Amino acid sequence: MFGRKSNSDSKSTPEAKFPHIGGLASILKNASIPVQNIPAATPKVNSEPDLPKPSTSKSVNLIQEVQKFDDKTIKPFIDYTAGSIFYPVLSNIGETQDNVSYLDDLVSDGILAKHIYEKLIVCPIHPTVFSSSMRLYCPKCHSMNVEKLNLFEHKKCGYIAESKNFDFSNIDHSVCPSCLKEIKNFEKEIRVPAMWYQCEDCIEKFDNAVIKLHCRKHDHDFDTNSGKFITTFCYKLKNSDISNISDTTQIKDELVKLLRGFNFTAELNSLVKGKSGNTHEIPIFGKSKSNDDSILIFIKNQSTGVDESDMNSILIPKLDIDPKNTLLVTVSDVKEGVENMAKHYGINLISDPDFSKIISRVEEFVSAWYANNGGRK
Ligand SMILES: [Zn+2]
Ligand SMILES: [Zn+2]
Ligand SMILES: [Zn+2]
Repeated sequence: MFGRKSNSDSKSTPEAKFPHIGGLASILKNASIPVQNIPAATPKVNSEPDLPKPSTSKSVNLIQEVQKFDDKTIKPFIDYTAGSIFYPVLSNIGETQDNVSYLDDLVSDGILAKHIYEKLIVCPIHPTVFSSSMRLYCPKCHSMNVEKLNLFEHKKCGYIAESKNFDFSNIDHSVCPSCLKEIKNFEKEIRVPAMWYQCEDCIEKFDNAVIKLHCRKHDHDFDTNSGKFITTFCYKLKNSDISNISDTTQIKDELVKLLRGFNFTAELNSLVKGKSGNTHEIPIFGKSKSNDDSILIFIKNQSTGVDESDMNSILIPKLDIDPKNTLLVTVSDVKEGVENMAKHYGINLISDPDFSKIISRVEEFVSAWYANNGGRK
């Protein structure tokens, strides 16, 4: 066996599930680890750096919650006065409601898809306050006492008058003031040929009122064009195949252990800065403790298979970070063209429907690399 360092930094690991790497593959093969046995909402695993962050059962619970929603989408709730965005469903799985990074991790795992939910226009001076409302002003005297005026036309007889001349107060029985015929269906029988405003204070009539946004908390107006945008996101369930999800989290956990055994620092969902200065989130980032070699491992498990667009999403961080090695591992089908693309860009593709085989193939890969670099025996 190659120099597996016993997990010296495992003080807080409850009990190494797979003490011998040799036994790893065989254990994994037989163990379809029952998801229910992993304690659900474990309080704050994050404080222990050795433990994998997203627990399988938590993610599975979340998927089950989201499956109950008609549109399979986790939508943000906005507290306009506190200026906070949160996702109430997270509290059902024991996470804090504002833990956006938990959701983002599920996006990089291919479980959720992130979409823009809305763009809020907020006050440029107080961007943390989301409560702004629209106000209309008279362009002449700046009064807010502005009324809307419409012209109505009775289509049947062609009579046109200001809306106040038509009496629609009696919904069941309204008549045209000119021909006195009954108007049964407003939408169909009445046309609105013109609309304008009138200031009740200065009697000025105008087509366009001055529109301002009002910062409610700090009680001042601001120009619509000067407002800042706050983007909120929703998360749509992309991959509802629960076995894939538990595979993904288990593969991640095992690969992190494996790298650490080879004397790498290995981090889940690590933020890595590239040459461009941009930061990329990498599912697993490993760095050798003996030299500066680094490895990126991407995991894509999805029922739709891995296609070229998945490869593109890997290429960007790969080219920017330029690590020694890049792996893409998947239990899903690999679409045509992906293999060639991987080869072309020096990405090692490891695909196998059996996830224990993936682990052993990664182990082979890392140990071969290690041996070539004069790694310890
Ligand atoms: Zn303000
Ligand atoms: Zn006015
Ligand atoms: Zn009429």
